[in-house]
Amino acid sequence: MQLPTALLNSLEGLPGFDRGAFIQRHLEADSMTSLRLNPDKHPSLPFSLRKVPWALQGFYVDPRPSFTFDPFFHAGCYYVQEASSMLLEQAFIQHMSSQQPICALDLCAAPGGKTTHLYSLLPKGSVLVANEVIKSRVNLLRDNCIKWGTTSVVVTQNDPHHFQELAGVFDWITLDAPCSGSGLFRKDPLAISSWSESHVIHCAQRQQRIVAAAWQALKPGGILFYSTCSYSLEENENIVSWAKNQLGASVLPVQLDSTWGIQESEVGYRCWPHQMRGEGFYFCCLQKSATSSPTYFSIRADKFLPVSQKENQRLKGWIDLADQHLFEAGGQLHAWPVSQWELLTLFKQKLYISYAGLRIGQWMKEKFIPDHALALSNQLAATTSSFQLEKEQAINYLQRKEITVSNVSRGWNLVTYNGFGLGWANVLQGRINNYYPKEFRILKDKE
Ligand code: SAM
Repeated sequence: MQLPTALLNSLEGLPGFDRGAFIQRHLEADSMTSLRLNPDKHPSLPFSLRKVPWALQGFYVDPRPSFTFDPFFHAGCYYVQEASSMLLEQAFIQHMSSQQPICALDLCAAPGGKTTHLYSLLPKGSVLVANEVIKSRVNLLRDNCIKWGTTSVVVTQNDPHHFQELAGVFDWITLDAPCSGSGLFRKDPLAISSWSESHVIHCAQRQQRIVAAAWQALKPGGILFYSTCSYSLEENENIVSWAKNQLGASVLPVQLDSTWGIQESEVGYRCWPHQMRGEGFYFCCLQKSATSSPTYFSIRADKFLPVSQKENQRLKGWIDLADQHLFEAGGQLHAWPVSQWELLTLFKQKLYISYAGLRIGQWMKEKFIPDHALALSNQLAATTSSFQLEKEQAINYLQRKEITVSNVSRGWNLVTYNGFGLGWANVLQGRINNYYPKEFRILKDKE
């Protein structure tokens, strides 16, 4: 692995940088796989796990197992995520300690690592907008949210500048910026060939534009978590200094245990892989002044009408609809928390929504067809019929193959593995129709 000399030279003098140790670490082939457990679906995993000290649900897993052939992975029981990225948790718990519901935004969200993490940290009753500007990546973000079982996330596909229209709305913004990616060279050596000084400059200009847009959307007193997986000063400390000077941002400290090996920088914190157990990462917590002028928004007539009470009654056997409004979008019924109805209405007016709340299914004549997202959520009524599969049968189900089970009730059944929902099956006379979504099926035949 030949690291760019221009990059190495540019890092000289940065706190924690040690050229020899840095190069040596890039020559070592250990992959350091880590994952984050879903606190709503706590399984006992069949892997050897070792704690990531800065994230309650974070674990290193060694050796790396085959996630594709693990039904727990498909049930959304964990998310495979790089350990340094999990430092978001320290920033959040140290600066958002109130248990009041908040309105949060993940501005550059696909594939959804920080979205699912933030969702699990939010106080009950909060709302999270997960945005991804690149169309081809939005579906992956939505699917990862569905797998995680989210019920109060709005997935949107907007350019960051659209969020200026939501001025002063968000208490917390995660801005994991698109960057030159040098922090991931150990994992992806091929990315080295596309690194250049001019790309760093291009990324820095884009990052400035994204921070400026996010800043508008932040409430007075709100917090912006800025991060990149680049080592370059231009994309990290320089962006933060610019935000301090031009936007009046204050930098908030994050307390980090010295044994974790994370380097405090002039502003923000750096993860150097030769100092800690994680890949290259930079983050900084910025606060907007509480005295900045609040921005008011008006809500126009509601085009997103809730479904009638009668409809709620018909769904009783499927979902617990206490404190939820039902609405229809794309021919499918969705549930959304009543207390956050106005916010959803506002987002509907200003953003391109790809998914919101929990998609629960649709009526076809008098029959209800449940949606996959309902199977993966914790909102499903306890009375719903279900049957359990052993690992081999569960893999067959996830491959969309035929499954055979005896003594199951007719009609729609939740298919489970160790008690965790995988999807739906419709049990008919003499056969079982496998409703695992085609687009999620395991394509490989063998481990
Ligand atoms: N936060 C994600 C996670 O933890 O899974 C990773 C985000 S990745 C570092 C940056 C994201 O920014 C990518 O999904 C990329 O598509 C998106 N992006 C690319 N260009 C952008 C732009 N001009 N404005 C906003 N986001 C952009």
